[in-house]
Order: sequence, then C-alpha cells, then structure tokens
Amino acid sequence: ASERESRCFELEKKYGAFNYHPMPVVLQRGKAAKVWDVNNVEYYDFLSAYSAVNQGHCHPRIVQALVQQASTLSLTSRAFHNDVLGEFEQKICTLLGYDRVLPMNTGVEGGETAVKLARRWGYDVKKIPENQARVVFARGNFWGRTIAAISSSTDPTSRRGFGPFVPNYDLVPYDELESLDRALSNPNVCAFMVEPIQGEAGVLVPQDGYLRKAQELCRKHNVLLIADEVQTGLARTGKMLCADYDEIRPDIIVLGKALSGGLYPVSAVLSSNEVITLLRPGEHGSTYGGNPLGCKVAMAALDVLVDEGLAENARLLGEKLRAGLKEMMNPGSALVNVRGRGLLTGITIEPRGENTAWDFCMELKDLGLLAKPTHGDKVRFAPPLVITSAQMDECLGIIEKGLKAY
Ligand code: PLP
Repeated sequence: ASERESRCFELEKKYGAFNYHPMPVVLQRGKAAKVWDVNNVEYYDFLSAYSAVNQGHCHPRIVQALVQQASTLSLTSRAFHNDVLGEFEQKICTLLGYDRVLPMNTGVEGGETAVKLARRWGYDVKKIPENQARVVFARGNFWGRTIAAISSSTDPTSRRGFGPFVPNYDLVPYDELESLDRALSNPNVCAFMVEPIQGEAGVLVPQDGYLRKAQELCRKHNVLLIADEVQTGLARTGKMLCADYDEIRPDIIVLGKALSGGLYPVSAVLSSNEVITLLRPGEHGSTYGGNPLGCKVAMAALDVLVDEGLAENARLLGEKLRAGLKEMMNPGSALVNVRGRGLLTGITIEPRGENTAWDFCMELKDLGLLAKPTHGDKVRFAPPLVITSAQMDECLGIIEKGLKAY
C-alpha cells in the first residue's frame, strides 16, 4: 500500500467502527462508470455504491442541480413549505404513475414508512383489531439495518445480539406462492413486502410472473403489496421499475439509492390516494425528508435516467454482459452460475482450495475492476448504467483474465 493508502487505513482502524469489511482500495474521485484511487489508479466500478450511482459518478447535471440549490436554500424542515417539494412530487408521481409520494432520506426509512402506512391501512380500512397487524416478508430479504428491518431478516449476522425484535412479522420462502397464499390468509395480515429481485441475497431472480401472481394473492386476501425497489428500481434492471416486467403497479413502492444518483440520500414511498392520505399531520416525518436540496437533486437524477435512456442501456448492456459471462462458463471454469436482469447481475464463483469469491474480486481489482463479494461464493456485477458498449467489452476481457488468474 502507498503512504496515502496506509494513512487512510490506519485512521479508520484507529477511529472508526468496524461495521464494514471493505476491499483494500481507497477511492478518491469518480467519473461516469469509473473511479480512481488515491494513487490515481483507474477502475471500473462494478458495484455503483450498491446501485445508487445508476447515473454514473458525479453526473454533471445532478452536480449542477446540487450546487445551485445548495447555494440557494438547502433545508427548511417541513414546518414550512419550500418551493421545490411540490414540483418534485409532481414529477415522480407522473413519471411512475402513482397518486402521491412521501419523501424520506434512506432506503430503510422508506421501508419503515411503507410498513407504517400498511399497518395504518390495516387498522383503518381492513379493520384489523388494534395492535394485531402482521406483515409478511420473503426469506432472504434485505431492507436495511434498523430494528424494524433486521426483525424480518433471516441472516444470523444481521440479527445476532440485537434482539428483541419487532413482533408480528411472518416469513415465507422467496419465489414460492403456496406458502404466500397460506400466510396471506391470516385476516390480520396488512401487507406483503418483497423485492422484485433479491439484491443483497445475491441477485436472486424469481420465475417470470412471480410478482404478478403475488399481487393476485394479495388482492384475493385484501392485503397490500409493497415492492421494495430501493435496489431494483430506477432503470437498474432495464425498466424504470422492475415491477414493470410483470405489468403491475404494486400498492406501495419504495425507492431510494439512485433517486439521487449517489449525490445525496433521498428515498420515497409512492402509493394511492386511499393509502397515503390515511396519514395525518404529526403522525410521520423526518427533518430532512422532502428538503429542497434533496428534491432538486432527485429531479435531476430522474431527468438523467429518462433523457439518457438509461433503462434501455441497462437492458442492452446487461444482456451483453450475461452473454459474455455465459461464454466463460466452460467446463472447469470457476464461474458456475450467471443470472440477472438489466445491469443487475449475480454470479457464483466456486471455491478453489483456500480461494473464494473474495480472492476473485481481489484479482479483478488488480486488473482494474471493482466488485464486492457477498455470501461467500457470490459476486454482484452492477456497473453504472452509463457504461458504454466498448467499455463493457473491456470489462468482459478483465473478468475473463480474472477467472484465469483465480
Ligand atoms: N431495500 C433494498 C432492496 C436494499 O438493497 C437496501 C440497501 O442495500 C435497502 C432497502 C436499504 O437502503 P439504505 O441502505 O439506504 O437504508
């Protein structure tokens, strides 16, 4: 490690909490699909900050929106109106076909908001007896790190030593409808919250039509469908929303991450008049939620997705990436599985002796491509959606070399 790198490692080691295990690279700047470390070494970013940087690093249009609004008005709280919030609300509702939106900051706050909304609907509309509302989740879900979120987790590492947990959550297997049907038949269930593709679980793509059939079951049992599109939404999977593949409109949708293109935390919960208007003043909120800076940044981030055709680019280059990867799956290759949609791809890397997916990612790093292993043998490939076809060819070359070196 260079002196600057060592200094960064040491400071974090001395003063930081150890709640992450980052790869040993210290990034210093980024542009579109690439990032550079403190030694000015260039890398392709194949993580995109867990799909937050869909529009590419430091997109000039979003940067300009941020700088301009930051020097005009950044935060008022919702105690007063601001002159950007309504415009943002109109833009996102019109773009995605929802009646109303409730802005928050992080993805997990969006999920929490959705669960609160669903409970409220459960009591006021479905007439569930007080404090009896239940929410159904799919095993392997990930929606953040708060107590409410880890209470639905099936990952022991997320839960150990953090109990007690939120009660009245039920779990069903992902991508399986019979158990879901049974779980939803409990009259106290108000919602089924699910990721259209499970991201953190290792990019698990359900069978075609899973979400549509899940929605049919929700209708049958008078239960709200909450789609957690924090990772899959906003062009990542080749459509503006991943739910668009099923040609459905979930009752509640949660967005985050790429809603700001990586410049500022902005999340949002979208739903119908019937559901969102159940919240009355004082019952929910956030100091920063809906602030003019976040709203302006989010508007620019949405404009970039649309104007640059990033959903289409994600679809085309995702197909190219997976086709290229599948060609590398010849007998004897450590690459044993490739799956995904758009530019959200997961691969499985067979352990080789002591070597695991972590070592494969270290090889890729040395060759100029950054990806992060998850769950031992899985690696997610999720570059910014602005990556070009020629760059993807180069990346496929790097991955092929990485596989040979592994
Ligand atoms: N939901 C999904 C599907 C996610 O992938 C994540 C983050 O990885 C979250 C929610 C939580 O978002 P945040 O980390 O912004 O709280």
